[in-house]
Amino acid sequence: MKTPKMIMLPENEMPRQWYNIVADMPVQPQPMLNPQTRKPLLPEEMEGLFAKGLVEQEFSQKRWHDIPDEVRELYKSYRPTPLVRAYALEKALDTPARIYYKNESVSPVGSHKLNSALPQAYYNHIQGITSITTETGAGQWGSAMSIACRHFGLKLEVFMVKNSYNAKPYRKVVMKTYGADVYASPCDLTQYGKKVLSEDPTNGGSLGIAISEAVERAVTQPNTRYTLGSVLSHVLMHQTIIGLEAEKQMEMAGEYPDKVIACFGGGSNFSGISFPFLRHKFTEGRNVKLIAAEPAACPKLTKGKLEYDFGDTAGMTPLIPMYTLGHDFQPEQIHAAGLRYHGGGRIVSQLKQDGYLDSCAIEQKEAFDAGILFARSEGIIPAPESTHAIAATIREALKARESGKSEVILFNLSGHGFLDLGAYEQYV
Ligand SMILES: *Cc1c(COP(=O)(O)O)cnc(C)c1O
Repeated sequence: MKTPKMIMLPENEMPRQWYNIVADMPVQPQPMLNPQTRKPLLPEEMEGLFAKGLVEQEFSQKRWHDIPDEVRELYKSYRPTPLVRAYALEKALDTPARIYYKNESVSPVGSHKLNSALPQAYYNHIQGITSITTETGAGQWGSAMSIACRHFGLKLEVFMVKNSYNAKPYRKVVMKTYGADVYASPCDLTQYGKKVLSEDPTNGGSLGIAISEAVERAVTQPNTRYTLGSVLSHVLMHQTIIGLEAEKQMEMAGEYPDKVIACFGGGSNFSGISFPFLRHKFTEGRNVKLIAAEPAACPKLTKGKLEYDFGDTAGMTPLIPMYTLGHDFQPEQIHAAGLRYHGGGRIVSQLKQDGYLDSCAIEQKEAFDAGILFARSEGIIPAPESTHAIAATIREALKARESGKSEVILFNLSGHGFLDLGAYEQYV
C-alpha cells in the first residue's frame, strides 16, 4: 500500500511529555562551570538569570517531563505538525531512498522555535516574573518569544543582531506586532553594548554580543529573567516534541528512519527531531544515524574543538563544555543567520565526542540550490537555515542512488522562508 503524502497525528495523540536524553546517555555530559570558581555550576547560581522551572529541567536526570496543560493547549494551535513523504523530491532526485520531513514551518511564527518559547514564557509566568529579555539572530526566536510572552502577559525586550535587524526588516515588524520592544544590538542600552560601540561604532553585531546585552539587561532590571532559544538542555528537551510526534507518525507509515537529519545552529531542532530516535539506539540497540548539517561558514561540530567556552562574547555566562569555534568567533555574513552561533551545547557535544552523531559542513551555494529544488518539487520555500538539512538529505539520497540501496531518510523542515525572500531575491 502506498504511504500517504501527509501523515497526520490526531490531536489527542500529541505527546504529553518531553524526553530528556540525559537519562539514557551512556556517558554523562560534563557539567557547566562557574567561571570564577571553576567549580560545577549549582542550580541556585542559575536562578538569578533563568526561571526556576527551567533551571530544574536544565539539571534534571529524569527521563520524562510532563508538558503543562497550559502549554499543551497552546501547542494545539499548530501541533501535531504534519509528517510529509517527499515523493516529488524523491522523483526529482531519481533516488530509491524514501524521504520524509517533519514540517515545523506550520507554526504561527513559521519555525520550530515556538515549541520552546511557550514553555519558557509559562515557567517565568508561574514564578511571578514580569519581564523577559532575549536575543535573536534572524528574528525567529524573537518572534516566537514575542507571541509566547503575549500569551502569558509578560513584557519582552529583544536584542536583535544589528546586521539582521537591517537585512530582515519584516521580522522586527512581526515582533512589534506581537508587542515586543526590539533593539538593534549592539546598542547603548547596556554597558557592554556601549563598550562595543565605543571601540567599533560600525559593529554589525553577533549572537554572542546580543546574548551579553540581554543577560546584562536581565540582571540589572527588577523581576526580569533571560531566555535562550537554543543550546541549553531544557531547550533541547522542549523540542523533543518534534521527534516524539515523528516517531508515532513514522510508525503509522510503517517505517523507521535509517538516517535523521537536521540543520544545526545551537542544536535545538536537531536534538528535537533526533533524540527520541537515538533513545532507541541506547535502549534497544536500534541502528539509526544522526547527521547535523552546519553552514561551512560556522562549522562548530565539524571543525571546532571540544573545550570549556562561554556562551556569549563578553564572557558573562557559565562555562559550557562544548564543540566551539571560540566565543569571539565572528562568522561571515550568510543568509542562514540562525546558524551563526559559535558552539554546540553540552549534550550534543558529548554525543558527538562519543561517536553518536555525524556532522557535515555545507556551502551557502549548495544550500540554496537545495532550497530551490525543494521549493520547485515540494512547493514550500524553506528557511535558509532549513536548506542545509535539505542539502544534507540530497547528498544522502544521491549516495543511495549510486549504491542502488533503498533507505529511509527523515529530516526536519525547521521553518519556511517567507520572511527571507530578500535572500532568495539575490539568488534568483
Ligand atoms: C533558529 C533556527 C535554526 C537554528 O537553531 P537550532 O537551535 O540549531 O535549531 C534553524 N532553523 C530555523 C528555521 C530557525 O529559526
